Amino acid sequence: MARYRDANCKLCRREGEKLFLKGARCLSDKCPIAKGAPPPGQHGANMRRKVSEYGLQLREKQKVRRIYGILERQFHNYYVKASKMRGITGENLMILLEQRLDNVVYRLGFAPSRKSARQLVRHRHFTVNDRIVDIPSYQVKPGDVVKVRENSKRMDIIHMALKEIGRAAELPWFRLDKARLEGEMLNIPTRLEIPTPAQEQLIVELYSK
Ligand code: SF4
Repeated sequence: MARYRDANCKLCRREGEKLFLKGARCLSDKCPIAKGAPPPGQHGANMRRKVSEYGLQLREKQKVRRIYGILERQFHNYYVKASKMRGITGENLMILLEQRLDNVVYRLGFAPSRKSARQLVRHRHFTVNDRIVDIPSYQVKPGDVVKVRENSKRMDIIHMALKEIGRAAELPWFRLDKARLEGEMLNIPTRLEIPTPAQEQLIVELYSK
């Protein structure tokens, strides 16, 4: 399956902000954004010029796409789905992205980044409601229990991620059982509960042109 292969830090530098694509490293002083690195490319340092409305909308869409590691066509499909749901399209979009299994694995703290989470899911290390699911885009619903498979419970990457990051404690829509390496989605989060810094209305404006 196609996916991003560009260097993670370069994507953050392009957007001019931290997208947290590398787990614990993003919180360290090794982060190029924390060091004030300019956008990539020969003229990167001179790129800070006035951006058009379209440019702002495009950048916001690219940013969110990169945060969740999704290619254009699939991202647009999420928008179409969100626009057909009740409520505010932008909020629906963010909620749909949050429900992806790779994101849930990351949010629960079982992987240091969404990229790692996607790989772990593909390699069949997780079950949802006791069934192996190896599709990163699988939509997790309230009541679903995501577990690390028995044979995968000793994996260092999972334990280190849980120890280093501990994101789940802050998210009220999950119940996490660290000892059993499982988590349940309790309810659909509200937009306010989703800690992704995005102006999703710009994305809606872009796509509804
Ligand atoms: Fe982005 Fe993380 Fe690289 Fe910093 S360390 S630029 S937040 S991927």
